[in-house]
Amino acid sequence: MLTLCSRFWVGEFSIASPSRASASSATRPGWEVIENTISVDSYDLGCDGSLASRLQFPAMPRPLYLLLLFVIVLLGAHASSRSDQFTPLVVSPLTTNAQPFHGTDGRVHLVYELVLTNTSPTPATLKKIEVVDGSNPSKTLASYYGRGLSSCLRTTGRLTAENSTIEFNSTRLFLIDLSLDPAIPLPQHLMHHVDVLGAPSPGPKPTAQVLLSYTVAPLHISRKLPVIGAPLSGKGWVAVNGCCGADSIHRSSSLSVNGRIYFAQRFAIDWMQLDEAGGFVHGDPSNAHNYDSYGADVLAVGDGTVVEILNDLDDQKPGTLPDPKTITLENVDGNHVVLDLGDGVFAFYAHLQKGSVRVSSGERVKRGEVLGKLGNTGNSSAPHLHFHLMESPSVLGSNGIPYLIDSLAIAGQIPAADFAAATGVEGNWSKGLLRNPNPRHDQFPLDLDIVDFSLLK
Ligand SMILES: [Zn+2]
Repeated sequence: MLTLCSRFWVGEFSIASPSRASASSATRPGWEVIENTISVDSYDLGCDGSLASRLQFPAMPRPLYLLLLFVIVLLGAHASSRSDQFTPLVVSPLTTNAQPFHGTDGRVHLVYELVLTNTSPTPATLKKIEVVDGSNPSKTLASYYGRGLSSCLRTTGRLTAENSTIEFNSTRLFLIDLSLDPAIPLPQHLMHHVDVLGAPSPGPKPTAQVLLSYTVAPLHISRKLPVIGAPLSGKGWVAVNGCCGADSIHRSSSLSVNGRIYFAQRFAIDWMQLDEAGGFVHGDPSNAHNYDSYGADVLAVGDGTVVEILNDLDDQKPGTLPDPKTITLENVDGNHVVLDLGDGVFAFYAHLQKGSVRVSSGERVKRGEVLGKLGNTGNSSAPHLHFHLMESPSVLGSNGIPYLIDSLAIAGQIPAADFAAATGVEGNWSKGLLRNPNPRHDQFPLDLDIVDFSLLK
């Protein structure tokens, strides 16, 4: 398999996302009783696990010491609020809100991540995560369990988790990609119901696991969504490595930079163009000039201000990714443009041809204006345009945000299984082409869509 582009350690990933996200949804008839939990108020252990050392007790015989400790725990439990619950596996959304968007499949998609950390010496084995309406937790939007659960778990190093057990002091990321019926109103905020085998109570030593259930991790649903123009013009543009399967190299590519974990490429697309016969490349695939995409004009998706460019890196030889030893934070995206579209939205165009960038930092551009030409610079194995929107001008230290393209046409879709099985992009991909492209408005292109932008303007 071939990887078009990614940030680092890309050899572990394949080019194609095999399927669109479609979390199974189910309706919960009621709410589960919280089992095997205790409530304590401000249960505060020291870093060494010793409550006594924190409270500076005088020296005393060990039995008396333990008895006093037990009494204090009981007092704490008695004084606590009944709403408090011991939750050894702490769960929080990576971002404070998520933005639903309409995909070209007619569904509403919601894509975000949870961060799970086991704070107890007892291992925490995740059994189920349900996404529920924050105002009415009996309404379940999606349920993850079994293989569906484990396939969405990632280590903080973005590798697939070996299993659903999280050891003491360990953290996992959980990738959520909801595909929802557009006829069903979305709630104002979501919560997450977690079933986990874990420690029943706080303590410095491992104990037998018990089943715990709790509803945590509120996430605000934001209705704000950028609407943009196309980043390219012409027909036959394929959304390679597109949204939203957890296996997609873009969607799953978290990166720890500037002290945080970011999913900058969450909604990134590698655009490659098919010719009318359905081919990406003709002749020698190791020659960048033989790709139909190579040299295409890259366009401003809206009025904005250029905030960063790079324009002096040579093309890579297509066919394989460059030697990882040659890739740095500075050159990973190749020649590129970052455009400030206003209102906290930034557009990122990567892998452009050397010397083709025709705009400068600080320059104002209009929608549709040519920024540069599609190339194969940086960490790229074939000519393509990597494009995404993000929440800050920082290319790596920024979370990707979804958007809608105001006018496009769906000209087909490359079968995901065929693309996943391919060893390269050579060959004929016309199988998924439609006889008559289907005009669309205000939708987000999904994985392996074949898109015509020629209806624009
Ligand atoms: Zn890319």
